[in-house]
Amino acid sequence: NTNATNYTKQPQAQSTPPRKKQRLANALDVLQEQRRQLPIAKGKEALVREIREHDVTVLLGETGSGKTTQIPQYLLEAGLADSGMIGITQPRKVAAISLAQRVSSEQGTPLGGLVGYAVRFDDVCGPDTRIRYMTDGMLTQELLGDPLLSRYKVIIVDEAHERTLRTDLLLANLKRILKARNGGTDGKGKRKEGNPLKVVIMSATLDAEKFSDFFYNAKIIYVKGRQHPVKIHHCVQGQTDYVDAAMRTFFQIHVDQPPGDVLIFLPGQEDIESLQKSIERLANQLPPNHSTVLVVPIYAALQTNATKAISIPAPRGVRKCILATNIAETSITIPGVRYVIDTGKSKENRFLTGSAGGGFETLLTRDITKSSAMQRAGRAGREGPGYCYRLYTEEAFTAMAPTAEPEILRCNLTQSILQLLCLGQDIQELDLMDAPDVDTVSSALRTLFILGALDSHRELTPIGRKMAAFPLNPVHARALIASKEHACTAEVLDIISVLEASSTLFVDVADKRTAIADARRKFIHPAGDHLTVLNASRAYQAVGGSDEDEKVDKISRSARKEWALAHFVNERTLREAASIRKQLQQRCDREGIDWRVSCGEREEPVLLSLAYGLSQNTALITPDGSYKQTIGQAVVKIHPSSSMADVKVPAIMYDELVYTNQIYARGVSSINKSFFATIGALNRREA
Ligand code: ADP
Ligand code: MG
Repeated sequence: NTNATNYTKQPQAQSTPPRKKQRLANALDVLQEQRRQLPIAKGKEALVREIREHDVTVLLGETGSGKTTQIPQYLLEAGLADSGMIGITQPRKVAAISLAQRVSSEQGTPLGGLVGYAVRFDDVCGPDTRIRYMTDGMLTQELLGDPLLSRYKVIIVDEAHERTLRTDLLLANLKRILKARNGGTDGKGKRKEGNPLKVVIMSATLDAEKFSDFFYNAKIIYVKGRQHPVKIHHCVQGQTDYVDAAMRTFFQIHVDQPPGDVLIFLPGQEDIESLQKSIERLANQLPPNHSTVLVVPIYAALQTNATKAISIPAPRGVRKCILATNIAETSITIPGVRYVIDTGKSKENRFLTGSAGGGFETLLTRDITKSSAMQRAGRAGREGPGYCYRLYTEEAFTAMAPTAEPEILRCNLTQSILQLLCLGQDIQELDLMDAPDVDTVSSALRTLFILGALDSHRELTPIGRKMAAFPLNPVHARALIASKEHACTAEVLDIISVLEASSTLFVDVADKRTAIADARRKFIHPAGDHLTVLNASRAYQAVGGSDEDEKVDKISRSARKEWALAHFVNERTLREAASIRKQLQQRCDREGIDWRVSCGEREEPVLLSLAYGLSQNTALITPDGSYKQTIGQAVVKIHPSSSMADVKVPAIMYDELVYTNQIYARGVSSINKSFFATIGALNRREA
C-alpha cells in the first residue's frame, strides 16, 4: 500500500541537522506513545472495521478519548481514503486550527502538508493534504462548487451534538450525497460505480439515537472514556457578578489547593479579557512563596498563533489558569486541568423576528444547559480526580434546560437560504433533523428579496448568485457588488473587511469615552461610523509606510501596535481585516470586480453602496430625537459608542441593533433621504 509509506514520510528529514533530527524523533516517539495510551486506541481495529462495513457510523465517546485526533489518522492508515481526502468538520474555527496543528505534529509533517485546515478566509492545505480539518461552514460553502463533495472519500461530522445551523444543513446534504454516490445510506441500496462516500458522525453527548434515526438506523459505536471522579461544589447563593466570583474562587484554589491547572468557563471575550487583567494584577501582589500564575485565554476570535499556548504544559511551580468560552467544553482538550470553575453562563445568538418584518440578531449571555454543565465539570477529571466549583446553586442547576435548542430554530437564516437556493434547494423541503420556523424563513426570504437576490417569484437573480459567491454576510456581499457600479470597491472592501472581522475595531470603555473621543478625533468622519472605520483602517495601513501585510517589518509592526494603543483601536481586528481583504480581493478577481477602483475623497458612492446592503437597517428621525425604523416598528437609539451619538440627522443606516435595556443601533452612518427612493427602485428593477 503506497499510502502507508506516505503516511510516515517526514519532509523535513533531509535538510535537518542530526541533533535536531534526534530531538524531533524523540518528540515524535513521545507523541506516538501518547497516542497508544488513548482510550480509543484499544478499539482501533474494531472501529476501523465497523466504519469500513457501514456507509454511515455514529460514534459516541467522552471528550478526550481520542475521537477527533485519531479517527482520521486510523482511517487514512487503513486505506479508507485512497486517492481522496478525509474532511472533518468542527463548529469553531479555533478548534479546527488547533486540532490540525496537533494532528500534523503527531504525523511529524508540517501543517498544510499531509494534515491541513480550512476556515473562512484561511486555507492551509496543499497538494499532499489528505486530512482536512475545517469548519462546518467551510464545507457547506464547498457544496456550491462541488455539490457531491466528490474529492472527499470520508466526511466526519464532529461535535454533531452542538447542532449548529451549518452542521444541520450539512447532515441534510450528506443524506442526499449518499443517495447519489452510494445509492442509499444503509449500504444495502444498489451500489453505484465509482466514488462512494463514508460518513462518520461524532458526538460527545448521549444523543446518538437521533443521528442514527436520521440516517436510517445507522450503526452506533460507543467508545469508553477514562473519566475520573469529579467532586462538584455548588454555591449556596446565586452570584450577581460572576466574573468577580470566578476571580475569588480562583484565588481560593490557588492559595489553598495542591498543584493542578484551573479552567474557568466564561460566556465571552470581554469577560475573559477583564478577568485575565484582574487575575494577573492580583497574582503579582501575592507573597513570593506562592507559585506563579500563567493566564491563558481561549475564545473564537483568537489569532491562529495564539492557539498553540493552550496545549503547552505549564513549567514546574507555575499554575496555569485557562479562561475559556464553551469551546473548551468538548472541542478542545486541555491537558493538566484539575479544577474547573463554571460561571454557568454562555453566549447564545438568537434572531428575533419582528411582527412587521425586519427582526434582529441578539447575542445574549444566558444560563447554560445541564448537558453543558456536566461537560464542563467533566473537564476536571481527565487525568485524575478533580474538582468543579459551580458559581450557581444546586437549584439553579436542576432548573436548567436539559440540552440546547438546535441553532436552526433560533438563528438568522438569510445566508444559508441564499446558499441553498444556489444549490437549487428549498429549505422548507429539505430533509432536516429539525425544520426551521416559518417566520424565520419568511423573514430571510424577505431580506433576500429586498437585497435584490430574489425576484418576486422567489427565483434567484444574477445578483443573488454573485452574492453567494462571497463568504460574507449577504448585507456586505450586496454592498460589495453595488460598489462595482459606483466605482468605489477599494473603499467598500476596506470597510467590510473590518466589519467581517471577529472583533470590533473600536475599543469602547464606558468611563474613558472622552479620552477615546479625543484620541480618535482625527479620523472621525462627519458622515458617521462607516467612513470613520475607513479612515482608521487607512491610517493604520499607512503606519510603517506599506499596506502589504507581509512587507511590514519589525519596526513598523511595533509602530502599528503603538498607534493602535494610542487610538484605542483593536489591532487584532485590523490585522484580521488585512487578511480578509486579501482573500476578498482574490474573490473579486474571480467574480470580475476590480478591487483597485477607488472613488478618492468622495463619500456618496461609498455610502450609497453600503445602503444597498443596509436598506433594511434604516431609520428616520422622530420629533423627540429618537429614530424609528423604516421597515419594522422599533424605536432605536444610537449607541453611545457611535461617532453619531451626539448628532441628529434626518436618516440613518446601521450595521446592527443591540438589545440591552433598550434598542441601540451600532455602526451608524447618516444617509441622504433620497437614497431610499434610489435603492428601492433599483432593487426592484434589478430583481
Ligand atoms: P475527543 O475528540 O475524543 O474529545 P481528542 O482526539 O480531541 O479527543 O483528544 C485526544 C487527546 O489528544 C487529548 O486527551 C489530549 O491528550 C490530546 N490532544 C488533543 N489535542 C491536543 C493539543 N492541541 N495539544 C496537546 N494534546 C492534545
Ligand atoms: Mg473531539
